[in-house]
Amino acid sequence: MKQHQSPTHSVAQAGTSEDATDVDVLVIGAGPTGLVAAAEALRHGLTVRIMERNTQRGMFSKALVVHARTMEVFAIMGIDRDIRAAGTPFAALNLHFNNRNKRVRVDLLDQPWGDTAYPFWLSVPQHDTERVLENHLTSLGGQVEWSCSLLELTDQGNVVEATLSHGEETEIVRARWVIGCDGGRSTVRDQAGITLRRTGAGATFLLADVKTTCDLVENEGHLFLAPDGLLILVPMPEPRQWRLIARVATAKQNTSTTEAEDTLAPADAARIDELIAERAGITFGAHDVSWTSQFDLSHGVAGEFRSGRIFLAGDAAHIHSPVGGQGLNTGVQDAQNLLWRIAEARHVSPEHAEELLAAYQIERRGTAAAMVDGVARMTAIMTSPKYLADRFRSLVAPLVVSRSFIQAKLARGVGMLNLSYAKQRGERGAGTWSVGHRLPNPLLGDGERLYDRIPNSGFSWVVCVNGTEQPNIAAAKLDADAPRWRGRPVIVLNESDLAEPDTSVRSGRAVLVRPDRYIAAVGPSGGTMPITGAATRFGEQANILNLH
Ligand SMILES: Cc1cc2nc3c(=O)[nH]c(=O)nc-3n(C[C@H](O)[C@H](O)[C@H](O)COP(=O)(O)OP(=O)(O)OC[C@H]3O[C@@H](n4cnc5c(N)ncnc54)[C@H](O)[C@@H]3O)c2cc1C
Repeated sequence: MKQHQSPTHSVAQAGTSEDATDVDVLVIGAGPTGLVAAAEALRHGLTVRIMERNTQRGMFSKALVVHARTMEVFAIMGIDRDIRAAGTPFAALNLHFNNRNKRVRVDLLDQPWGDTAYPFWLSVPQHDTERVLENHLTSLGGQVEWSCSLLELTDQGNVVEATLSHGEETEIVRARWVIGCDGGRSTVRDQAGITLRRTGAGATFLLADVKTTCDLVENEGHLFLAPDGLLILVPMPEPRQWRLIARVATAKQNTSTTEAEDTLAPADAARIDELIAERAGITFGAHDVSWTSQFDLSHGVAGEFRSGRIFLAGDAAHIHSPVGGQGLNTGVQDAQNLLWRIAEARHVSPEHAEELLAAYQIERRGTAAAMVDGVARMTAIMTSPKYLADRFRSLVAPLVVSRSFIQAKLARGVGMLNLSYAKQRGERGAGTWSVGHRLPNPLLGDGERLYDRIPNSGFSWVVCVNGTEQPNIAAAKLDADAPRWRGRPVIVLNESDLAEPDTSVRSGRAVLVRPDRYIAAVGPSGGTMPITGAATRFGEQANILNLH
């Protein structure tokens, strides 16, 4: 990246008239992460352009699972129903241990999912998720500019100059912010001088989307921990269509995960039948192999998610093993986290804008690193030929996953509902209503959930009041126009509104809720105590809002 001058002021500072920009946000890459970034930019009132070097949307299924937390992100965007309509929830995950002699069935729909409106893992091919996202972008007035590649970035302090190629022609765009959503081999990342070191997992995987003649239950997945290699069978929404993921012998010419986007067939129907028969004992009857890919598993996280006015999100920032099914979900959540920050940063002092933007890397890099590491360790346990790993798979794992509380943890944990930023933010508050945690979303007596009452953009307050008070009396006492609420909406949650008693909802508590439904601050709701003087660190985000 060319650097014309080093910024002498906070990069988050608003530009002056001499820093004329063409656009607030320039998004590079129109995969799921880029589409969410562009649509969220528009929803927050920013101008945006989104560039994609491909000529049109790809038809490969790639990521197959949308998780509950991602559905909550889609709900804030207003597209959860469209995504839900494009997919089918998995009914169960069947874990077959020790050459299929032991089997544990995890009934995914029957788990105690708790406080979410999306109690499932949703099977949706990536191209369908992208189609819904692109339609949404169009409905907001945006459009993907196809056949356009980023060539170079030049940081000029208050703007970033991007050189783009549209075929033979070159265009220079001056953007306030550039977001690199350009996948595992990110040009933005290279231009920003950020490195992403991949660690090989020492395992080669085969992926295939294939039809079967076999009468497998359509909406249940299978994981076979066979001695000769891991095998995963995932149902796809189209009848009799399945995704196969199998560990295979390593060959030299293999590529790494995100480079494996070709349709060259490393596996035909006969090889797929043979693999499944050997490891699962199923006569699969493979036909119509629509997409296959083989790659050496690797993973890694970029050293930084930001360089000045340039951000990385999605696969450009972190490479996952597809065994965990988290790549797309993490990218979507990155994009949402980043865009509300860029939007809010316009309204606050440069110092606080910088604080808001710096927290993107703190939260999302920490999350991605933990996730990549966790999936890598799990993959190693599932694929290692070592004696101890084999004993664990045959003896310990079946006992562990038979436990109902482990199954509940698996459903919610993989669904990313327990994802908290408290640790990354150095917060020590205990309980679900603490700073850095996802705001609980209890079911209310009228059939709604708390999230249904919260606006979809900006910060808002949720104030818990005593169950004996009428909601209108409680609301009047709070005086939603009082300066202490900084002009942000106040949502009153009366204990008596809850469908079921919940001791965690404590009257007298106010929480400041971020646009992504995470808790920014917690303090007392009433009395004369000013918000900024409340409990430890309660002031941080409230101060930011104070400085409008
Ligand atoms: C074979 C395979 C199987 C997978 N299976 C799963 C799975 O089962 N579950 C799961 O969760 N994930 C899976 N993934 C990962 C998942 O597909 C990614 O995590 C997800 O696509 C990331 O989205 P993204 O938008 O960040 O990046 P991408 O989807 O990679 O999108 C990046 C976009 O940027 C464009 N681009 C690149 N460079 C430029 C440039 N210089 N200028 C303009 N445009 C550019 C690319 O053309 C591309 O369209 C799989 C991936 C692969 C390759």
